[in-house]
Amino acid sequence: MSGAGESILGGLNPAQRQAVELLGRPVLVIAGAGSGKTRTLVHRVAHVVELGVDPREILLLTFTRRAAAEMLARARQLNPACAAVGGGTFHSLCNRLLRRYAARAGLMPNFTIIDPADAEHLVRGCIDELGLKGGKDERFPKPRTVFGLISASRNLELSLAELIQTREPHLWPISKEIERIALAYAQAKQRQNQVDYDDLLFMAEALLRDNPDIQDDQRRRWRHVLVDEYQDTNAVQARLLELICGPGQELMVVGDDAQSIYRFRGARIDNIFEFPERFAGAAVVKLERNYRSTQPILDLTNAIIEGAGQRFDKRLFTELLEGPKPRLERPRDERGQSRLVRERIQKLLADGARPEDIAVLFRAGRDSFDLERELTAEHLAYVKYGGLKFLEASHIKDVLAHLRVIANPLDFVSWQRALMLLPGVGPTTAQQIVAHLALAAGPADFGPRLRACPQGKRSAPVRQLAELMDELSDPAAPPLDKVEAALEYYEPFCREQYEDYPRRLRDLEELPGLARAFGSLEDMLAELVLDPPAAHAEEMGGGRITLSTVHSAKGMEWPHVFVIWATDGRLPSSASLDDPDGLEEERRLLYVACTRAAKGLLLVAPRESFNRFDGARDQELSRFLDDLPAAVMESSGGAVFGEAFTRLAAAAAPDETPVARPVAAPRAVKEPAGPKVGSVAGKMALLQYDRPFPVGEMVSHAKFGRGKVIGYRGDDKIMVHFTGYGLKTLVLKFAGLQPA
Ligand code: ATP
Ligand code: MG
Repeated sequence: MSGAGESILGGLNPAQRQAVELLGRPVLVIAGAGSGKTRTLVHRVAHVVELGVDPREILLLTFTRRAAAEMLARARQLNPACAAVGGGTFHSLCNRLLRRYAARAGLMPNFTIIDPADAEHLVRGCIDELGLKGGKDERFPKPRTVFGLISASRNLELSLAELIQTREPHLWPISKEIERIALAYAQAKQRQNQVDYDDLLFMAEALLRDNPDIQDDQRRRWRHVLVDEYQDTNAVQARLLELICGPGQELMVVGDDAQSIYRFRGARIDNIFEFPERFAGAAVVKLERNYRSTQPILDLTNAIIEGAGQRFDKRLFTELLEGPKPRLERPRDERGQSRLVRERIQKLLADGARPEDIAVLFRAGRDSFDLERELTAEHLAYVKYGGLKFLEASHIKDVLAHLRVIANPLDFVSWQRALMLLPGVGPTTAQQIVAHLALAAGPADFGPRLRACPQGKRSAPVRQLAELMDELSDPAAPPLDKVEAALEYYEPFCREQYEDYPRRLRDLEELPGLARAFGSLEDMLAELVLDPPAAHAEEMGGGRITLSTVHSAKGMEWPHVFVIWATDGRLPSSASLDDPDGLEEERRLLYVACTRAAKGLLLVAPRESFNRFDGARDQELSRFLDDLPAAVMESSGGAVFGEAFTRLAAAAAPDETPVARPVAAPRAVKEPAGPKVGSVAGKMALLQYDRPFPVGEMVSHAKFGRGKVIGYRGDDKIMVHFTGYGLKTLVLKFAGLQPA
């Protein structure tokens, strides 16, 4: 089949081809964004299959399941036999190993994996149990912070005491308490037959290290190992690779030190630099031609990364010389930003771009809420990646909880989640019900026991749950049926609990498809926890625009990219501002964002933001853009005094209407803004048009009674703290709020 062979190597430049053909020694490909690192990996997979390697002996490790699936799809196009190649993340590899050798890893094979949100929940329980919560005024760190410390100490491989002493000295006085929580957390996981993300890596490492037969087995199993995005592996992942890859195996890793953005998870750029030491005889290949972006985009991204200390100098060139310069726009506020992005997207679509050619990128999941509202209102379909695991996947977690207790009856966290959906069941009642269930007995008894317990006798919903448990515990039922039964059961709860239930129900509809793809419920649950499906997929036919956090956009590319909230405090994030290493990572984040663009790049930095506590605030342009030579970016002064702004200001104070001034410098950044955000004109306009009830004022609601306005989410939702019902987020249009 020389024809196929030629196309595999023919689609590569000489340096890429050299990397693909280099066998017999470990290979490190280190090169800048868009230089074809991922392509090189894909072609190497196809090439060695072509040479006769059994595809089942090839292991492709990537950062997400999605990335693995995309790469394997491309490899399959080069050679259909590549369908049998094993691909996934380090975590999923570890998961499979631990299930297979559970007993020898000290686990039960039906362990459940908990994500950081579940972990936080467990930590909260431990803090309560140890009585460490303290009074109202006593400040004990939040569960999230404590879990963050536990996870950081493991990933950075420092003791908690060391970590706290060096990185969080203000917590030193309570370091003993934090150690106690860490211990209680470890015990709780063990009791409930659970492992967290970090456990997966460390337990798999121990398994391989302590059991030479298992290690040999793995080494024999994988003749070829290939790793993408190696710059974002952490210390334990590098050791895992060493354990799996012995001298007789073929290893290739590719990475770009300038794109390392997972420091918070313990990623070590040094893994790249140490590769030649770890893997004797390694060859280093550099790729210097960029195939993704036009020269004007490269000029900007090169300028951004110039300010960072890179060890491997990467001079990129492209033959795509022509193209528009990246642009910077500074709309007045978030609304203006959303409108501007939406209008530009509509223009691109009108000019023939497909929705899937367009992406909007941002630092944090919440950064796109307002834009999501704007896109939905205009019927522009989008799919959102990243930033949702903690915030909005709760409906997915709800459904999965019912399946998780079947897979692992000891999973108390999921029991609590499932039971607390029921009317009148709080944490205490949930605990009482669980006590009746005698979890260790196994799922077949759940139904009968639920019906027999006092709550089951009294409450119809508990009996409904019992029926669901009967269905789910049927060992003969295929996973798809179980998922559908759980969905049917959950739907009314979803409608009841969430005002935006239509969108959530649409998310849930992704689950049956996933169930079909996995052979067993356990596999499905494990994969979903490690890599949840994209949420917010607005199904409106045709393609979809992508909204994504920068972290989740790694490795991807689109013809047209928007980067929103390019302001100091968002990108870089405010949390990083006084940490030099953190700031460097933020610079790399912006670099990753901008290097996703092939043809068009628009950066948007609103001039003000609205914070529910402080009201309106001025926003500075991201320092990484502010520093750049003027020539790399174009900006339109007109945007500063955009149409929306003029209208708002005119409505509030006609005589303060700004006059659009021609901009002298090519960068609008240094231009004076219109009336200051905090000025009377700005604020009045804001209140009058955007926020019907001022933050801090009392309102009344037909059902919830009186409450205080805490703030707004996007422009369609209002957050009110009701005296009798606590904090609620309501859709303004439907809430029927009255001033109180
Ligand atoms: P990143 O660092 O962002 O992950 P990368 O180095 O992995 O980037 P790829 O995604 O592999 O780069 O490639 C970037 C784009 O360039 C892709 O569209 C790819 O198909 C294209 N490309 C790479 N090499 C070649 C080549 N030799 N011929 C044609 N197109 C190429
Ligand atoms: Mg890549």
